[in-house]
Amino acid sequence: MSELNEIFGSYVFNDSVMKERLPKATYKALKKTIEEGKTLSPEIADVVASAMKDWALEKGATHYTHWFQPMTGITAEKHDSFINPTDDGKVILEFSGKELIKGEPDASSFPSGGLRATFEARGYTAWDCTSPAFVKDGALCIPTAFCSYNGEALDKKTPLLRSMEALSVQAMRVLKAIGNTTAKRVITTVGPEQEYFLIDKNLYEKRKDLILTGRTLFGAMASKGQELEDHYFGTIKERVSSYMKELDEELWKLGIAAKTKHNEVAPAQHELAPIFSTTNIATDHNQLTMEIMKKVALRHGLVCLLHEKPFAGVNGSGKHNNWSMATDDGENLLEPGKSPESNTQFLLFLSAVIAAVDEYAGLLRLSAASAGNDHRLGANEAPPAIISIFLGEQLDSILREIEEGKVAKAEEVSSLEIGVSTLPLLPKDATDRNRTSPFAFTGNKFEFRMTPSAASISGPNFVLNTAVAEILEGFADRLEKATDVQAEMIAIIKETVKDHKRIIFNGNGYSDEWVDEAARRGLPNLTSTVEATKEMIKEKNMAVLEKHGVLTREESQSRYEITLENYSKTINIEALTSIEMVRRQILPVAVDYATNLAASINEIKATGIEVNTSVQADLLVSVSNLAASIKEKVSALEKAVKKAEVIEDSYEMASSYRNDVFAKMNELREDVDTLETIVDSEVWPLPTYSELLFNI
Ligand code: ADP
Ligand code: MG
Repeated sequence: MSELNEIFGSYVFNDSVMKERLPKATYKALKKTIEEGKTLSPEIADVVASAMKDWALEKGATHYTHWFQPMTGITAEKHDSFINPTDDGKVILEFSGKELIKGEPDASSFPSGGLRATFEARGYTAWDCTSPAFVKDGALCIPTAFCSYNGEALDKKTPLLRSMEALSVQAMRVLKAIGNTTAKRVITTVGPEQEYFLIDKNLYEKRKDLILTGRTLFGAMASKGQELEDHYFGTIKERVSSYMKELDEELWKLGIAAKTKHNEVAPAQHELAPIFSTTNIATDHNQLTMEIMKKVALRHGLVCLLHEKPFAGVNGSGKHNNWSMATDDGENLLEPGKSPESNTQFLLFLSAVIAAVDEYAGLLRLSAASAGNDHRLGANEAPPAIISIFLGEQLDSILREIEEGKVAKAEEVSSLEIGVSTLPLLPKDATDRNRTSPFAFTGNKFEFRMTPSAASISGPNFVLNTAVAEILEGFADRLEKATDVQAEMIAIIKETVKDHKRIIFNGNGYSDEWVDEAARRGLPNLTSTVEATKEMIKEKNMAVLEKHGVLTREESQSRYEITLENYSKTINIEALTSIEMVRRQILPVAVDYATNLAASINEIKATGIEVNTSVQADLLVSVSNLAASIKEKVSALEKAVKKAEVIEDSYEMASSYRNDVFAKMNELREDVDTLETIVDSEVWPLPTYSELLFNI
C-alpha cells in the first residue's frame, strides 16, 4: 500500500517537491505564476531550474528536453545533456532559467500549414508551468507550448491554454454577475477514457499494413467476432493483465492517475481511464499514456494499436472525452446542486453548453475528424457523424417545463426553484445512459464520445471551451445589466432551450430515422473528414476562435491545410501499402496456388484413374478469376493514386483521395478478402484475423 503511495508521482516535479526543494519566496512566486498566469522573472527561473536539475539528476536524468505537441498529433522532444565542460577537462552539470523557460527548436520540419512559408523557419518552445515537469527515459521533460518566431501557434497546446483562459474569463463574469463570488478562476476538467487493442508482436511484424498504417488493410473476418459479447468486462488474460499492471505503474510514476482498466467490446480490445484533471494536464497525460501504452506493450511481446479501426468487422477504438467546468475552489458547475439557487446556476451553465454545441456543431464534429475515425462515426459502433446532445428524460422534461413558461412569471420562479431542487436525484447510473449519443450528459459532466482514439484531445477541448466561452459571454452581458438577476437567469435558460432544443435528442442515434430527423432539424451531417474540414475556415468559426484569442485567422487557415494534407498523406500511405502487399505478397500466392491446383489436376489425370477433380477445377477457376480481378483493381488503384497525387488544391486533392483512392482500395480489399477464404491457410502470407484477435 505504502509502496503505491511512494510510486505515485515519484518522477514528477510536483507541488510537494517544489515546496520541499525551493526557497519559500521562490516557491511562492512560482505558485503565483502558475495560479495567476503571471510571467516568471529570470532570477526566479534560475532558482527553479537549478532545483529541478538537482532533483532530475537524483532520478537518473542526464538530459533535459522541452516536451511539446506539434501538429503531427504526437509529442516531440530534443534532448540536451546537462554537461558543461570546464577548463580542467571536466564537466559541471548546469541548467539555467533561460533553458527552462525557452527553447529554440528548428520549426521547419514540423507541419505548419503554410505559416512557415510566410514567416521565419525558427520556432520556440515556452514552458507551460501549469503542467509539471517530469523525468522520462533519463530526461527531464519540460511541458512546453510551441510557436513560430512571430508567436503563431504551431502546436496543440497553445490554443488549448488560450481557450481555457477564454472560458475562465467569461465563466467568471457570469459567476460574479449572479453573486457567486468566492472563486478566482474557472477551469475545465477532462477525463479521457482511452481504448486500445493489444496484439502479438510476432504476428504484427508479419503485416506491412499494421506496421505502416496501424490498421489491417486486408483480412477476412474470423468465424468469431464480438457477437457473443463475451469480451466486454470479461476476465483479463494473464499476459494482458501483466501488461496492464506494468502500464499502471509506469503511469503512476508520472503522476497519471490511471484508475480503471477493463476489456472492451471487441476481442483484443481494452480500455484505460484516468481520474479527471485540468484540461491541459489531462491532455499532456493522455499523450504520455498513449506513448507509454505502446512502449510497455513491446516489453511483453505485444503491440498496442491505437488506430481507430485496426480491424474491419469488429468495433474500433475511441476516446470518451468527459468534460466539465469547475471553480478553483472545487465547485463543479455541471453538478446539479443541493440548493435551489445552485440549481438555477447549474441550469444556466448546462444551457450554455447546449447552445454552444448547437451553434458550433460543425466545428466540434471537425475536432473529432480523422482518416481513421471516418471508419467509425456513423458505422453503428460509434456515435453518428451528426452532433446531438443526450440529456436523459428527467433533465429534458425540466428544461421543457421551463421552456413552456410554466414558471415564467417572477413570482413563480421560487416554486420552480423548489421543483428543480430535486435535481440531485438525477440518475448517474449506467442504466439511463444512451450509448448512441455523441454528446451525453452523465450526471455531472458531458461525455463527448466521437473523439478518435489515436488523436490528441486538445482539438475537441479547445473547440468546446471556446464555444462555451462565447455563449457565456452573451449570458454575462445580459446578467451584468439585469436588475432582477434571478429572473434574468430563468429568462436566459428559457430562451436558450427554445432556440437550441433541436440539438437535444434522447433517442437511438444509430437509427436511420435519426438521420432523416436530424436533417429535418437542420443539424449538420458531415460524414467524412474531408467534408468536415471546411468548418475550419467558415467565417463564423474563424470569427469565434479569433474573438476569444484562441486561433488567429491565419492559424485557422493553417490548421485547415494541415488537416487536409494529413488526410491525403494518410490515404496515400494506405493505398501504396495496399498496392505493395497485393503485388508482392497476395498475387504471387494466388498464382502459386493456381499453379499447384493445375498441377494437381494434371497429376491426378496422369494416373489414368477416373477421378472427380471438380473441386480442384472449381477452385482453380475461382482463384484465377479473383487473381485477374485483383490485378485489374490494383492497377485502377494505382491510377487513382497517380491522379490524386498531382492535384494542386489541397481540398480537391483530399476529396480525390476520399472519393476515388479510398473507394478503390475498398473494392480491392473485397476481392483479396474473398481470396483469403478459399486459399490454403498454410500458404496465405498474412496472419489472419483469428490469429490476430484471439492469439494472445
Ligand atoms: P464511465 O461509466 O463512463 O466510465 P465514470 O464516472 O467512471 O464513467 O467517468 C469516466 C471518466 O470521467 C473518468 O475519467 C472520470 O475521472 C471522468 N470524470 C468524472 N467526473 C468528471 C468531471 N467533473 N469532469 C471531467 N471528467 C470527469
Ligand atoms: Mg464513459
